[in-house]
Amino acid sequence: MIIREGGNTHVFAIAMRTRFRGITVREGVLVRGPAGWAEFSPFADYDPPACVPWLRAAREAAYDVWPEALRDRIPVNCTVPAVGPEQAMAVVTRSAGCRTAKVKVAEPGQPDSDDLARVEAVREALGPSGRVRVDANGLWDVDTAVRMIKLLDKAAGGLEYVEQPCATVEELAEVRRKVDVPIAADESIRRAADPYRVVRLHAADIAVLKVQPLGGVRAALRIAEQIGLPVVVSSALETSVGIAAGVALAAALPELPYACGLATVQMLTGDVVAEPLLPVDGALPVIRPEPDPDRLSTFAADEATRARWMERLALVEELT
Ligand SMILES: [Mg+2]
Repeated sequence: MIIREGGNTHVFAIAMRTRFRGITVREGVLVRGPAGWAEFSPFADYDPPACVPWLRAAREAAYDVWPEALRDRIPVNCTVPAVGPEQAMAVVTRSAGCRTAKVKVAEPGQPDSDDLARVEAVREALGPSGRVRVDANGLWDVDTAVRMIKLLDKAAGGLEYVEQPCATVEELAEVRRKVDVPIAADESIRRAADPYRVVRLHAADIAVLKVQPLGGVRAALRIAEQIGLPVVVSSALETSVGIAAGVALAAALPELPYACGLATVQMLTGDVVAEPLLPVDGALPVIRPEPDPDRLSTFAADEATRARWMERLALVEELT
């Protein structure tokens, strides 16, 4: 059990700076266990069975030890939402030295020209030595993906990789055969019954791994070992408590050739710790910050939200 009587759970609700993948307020539960603080924050569209790995990750953080760190800083990318070119440039120039930018593309309702203009602006802001990657969140069909990847690669003066251009593993494999830009799989690993299918179908060059949906730091590390692809550790838009688990995974990987997607705390309007896991010179320190009581109360959810989360947690606990 992760819930204990005596107030070791805190439900938080923190507004996002800009709407991101349909979310305007980030909510979740923080739990203090004997090993440290844990975060349980599955997105609203995950039903109780889909939340089981998220709970395993929280249990590990609260009760177990994370694997040994092999490095003390984690290079990270900045994330450029589906905004206009001026705002995109501002994200890069205010990114605390991040030399890699991940640009959201394929936003429903936006013309392709918006994606091209955004990527061009990001390249201009980063300069020739920076790296530009794009994430389509599975929203293109194969033909659109092939056409857009070629155009975006030109607009960016070379793309580092394209993340989840299409929804299915079969489509990823087809796109990968038709373009030269490396393909990264995110949703195809995190929401798949079998994360190794991307390898068997030669559908990806890079694996994006996230601690909570994969069941914890050790579970994700095992997938990293077995999948045989270079790994990019990304967040699930957690507070610094949850980000610390991603940092622990990135620190424990034998190889870390790409910047990680863990610099996402700045997408929230606040954090529960006094010293948030924000980048310095383009990297996060390998630390595990503790929530601060004042901030826990500042970002405490209202009673109805708290009741909803405790009920959700109890439902998931019944399944494990
Ligand atoms: Mg992604």
